[in-house]
Amino acid sequence: MTEYESRPGDSTRSVHAGRPPARAHEPALPGPVFAAHFHLPGDVTGPYTYGRDENPTWTRLEEAISALESPGTPAETLAFSSGMGAISSVLFSQVRSGDTVVLPSDCYQATRSLQGRLEDYGVSVRLAPTAGDAQLKALEGARLLWIETPSNPGLDVCDIRRLADAAHAAGALVAVDNTLATPLGQRPLDLGADFSVASGTKALSGHGDLLLGYVTTRRAELAAGVRMWRKTVGAIPGPMEAWLAHRSLSTLALRVDRQAANALELAAALLRRPEVTDVRHPGLADDPAHSVATAQMTRFGSVVSFTLPDKEHAERFLSELLLTTEATSFGSVTSTAERRARWGGDAVPEGFIRFSVGVEDAADIVRDVTQALDAAAR
Ligand code: PLP
Repeated sequence: MTEYESRPGDSTRSVHAGRPPARAHEPALPGPVFAAHFHLPGDVTGPYTYGRDENPTWTRLEEAISALESPGTPAETLAFSSGMGAISSVLFSQVRSGDTVVLPSDCYQATRSLQGRLEDYGVSVRLAPTAGDAQLKALEGARLLWIETPSNPGLDVCDIRRLADAAHAAGALVAVDNTLATPLGQRPLDLGADFSVASGTKALSGHGDLLLGYVTTRRAELAAGVRMWRKTVGAIPGPMEAWLAHRSLSTLALRVDRQAANALELAAALLRRPEVTDVRHPGLADDPAHSVATAQMTRFGSVVSFTLPDKEHAERFLSELLLTTEATSFGSVTSTAERRARWGGDAVPEGFIRFSVGVEDAADIVRDVTQALDAAAR
């Protein structure tokens, strides 16, 4: 990391992150390297040997993500085939039979679903909610604390610094799922976490066209464990996905700025509707998460959640949307929404909507939602 890289603004950093120095007649961002193996005469020396261990396209993306997650301080990033590849690799590389893991009771449901498998392997799992830093009470004797803030889908926020300090005092490692915030929204490593982990499928790549995950840590010994796990389970990204994600980083600041502004406008419009309850977005001044979010986040993300009176009302609303499509991801350039309870597994009412705001014009998103609410109310 050069002095130069640690200083510029977020947009400049996201445009330039991980790009090689300018060389005459070379592209600004070299294309994907498709290689199962590399020429490897004699003794095994790196950096590139076999395609499951390393790939130059991953390296550039990993350097870019490190520069965003940890500007000014050296860090190592490992790219994965999906967010769940990254999450499960941290958990399964770091904990052993007899250890205790603290998971959020309200986090992304596939992360929580690892509880059963961890327990099968002799790991105790304690669950506590994100809000109110409730995980503090579950830390005694723990080996690893898993934080997800803001949480998906409830959008609660916890104080990363406070939890990380307490976890370290109790001898536990700390991993933060940074998917919703992105590294331009919050930097868990600066707040004391050992790992920042995320699904790059969402806002990081932001076009809804690839799956990706990553793990960033400043501790070489932790990175080595995760690297070995990735190599042995083979949860590796394809070079095309890694390259597309890297190219998409150039617009990360533009996208997350626009999405956060759009999300606030949508949330404000929803607050004016009598049939809509429990509007949540960490950027809303009256949101229960706002004060902690303001202290540790610089952008509040693209997700707004709210509740309609019942399942039928919510389904009518979704079917009346014209611009917004029904889909289950978030963070993409296109606005999407879903009735979260259709999956089961989250403690949300039947009428709960998770809305992911895209980069369309705010007025168009608000108009679309307003006309759909009007139609659904008739
Ligand atoms: N973490 C959070 C907070 C998520 O919302 C998701 C997916 O929705 C994941 C992790 C998993 O990411 P992926 O779908 O890329 O495996």
